[in-house]
Amino acid sequence: MRKKILAANWKMNLLRDEAIQLINDFNKEVELSSNEIEVVVFSPSLYISEISQLTDFKIGAQNFYFEKNGAFTGELSIPQVKSCGASQLLIGHSERRQIFGESDDLLKRKVDAAVESNTPFIFCCGEALETRDAERHIEFVVNQLHASLFHLDEKQILLGAIAYEPIWAIGTGRTASTEQAEEMHAAIRESLSYVYSPSIANQISILYGGSCNAKNATELFACPNVDGGLIGGASLQSETFNQIAKALI
Ligand code: PEP
Repeated sequence: MRKKILAANWKMNLLRDEAIQLINDFNKEVELSSNEIEVVVFSPSLYISEISQLTDFKIGAQNFYFEKNGAFTGELSIPQVKSCGASQLLIGHSERRQIFGESDDLLKRKVDAAVESNTPFIFCCGEALETRDAERHIEFVVNQLHASLFHLDEKQILLGAIAYEPIWAIGTGRTASTEQAEEMHAAIRESLSYVYSPSIANQISILYGGSCNAKNATELFACPNVDGGLIGGASLQSETFNQIAKALI
């Protein structure tokens, strides 16, 4: 049985005191038994150390560099974020790909670094609107997975989860329909099954991300191949995040 995962991506939001307040609110309001759902909070890295001591939820790093240490001014390594309390990594978010120019090849190296350090990660993929309009969305997303993820072996791939995040739905208020989400999630699972095996494909959680909120979460999470969500804007309020969590149970 694969895990249900609910991940909060706080992005570059919240001052320190606000982040502390929000994690305390999550502690009080997000009602779940950790056996049912794994909750991961991708906090700004500056706050990981403090926040990870205030909660039992898993804390993750939104970004890292693949080298372990050295002359990489401004970067953070996996050993560094782990030493501060991060236990998960986010890789391949479209904002990293588009704004910071992260290539398939760089993402492959990040995936390898996550595996080498034995750190669970969520690998993001998703197409732009033009690609969907050209009906090339499935081919595009499957190519992203081949380019940066599918070189892993059967044991290694099990460390990862995949988040399908159509770029046109991120932060836009426009969500994929249940048909669009299920079509893509089923295609991703089929690719996993083809490259690895049906058994491996059934063990890997595939999350949906892109304007997921308290109103649309129930129907999205009811799709057979949607195993949770990666939540941006709606994770900045504990009440909304809790409603999304309840939709996943
Ligand atoms: C995200 O950035 O991963 C995301 C899904 O954002 P939002 O929920 O705000 O669309």
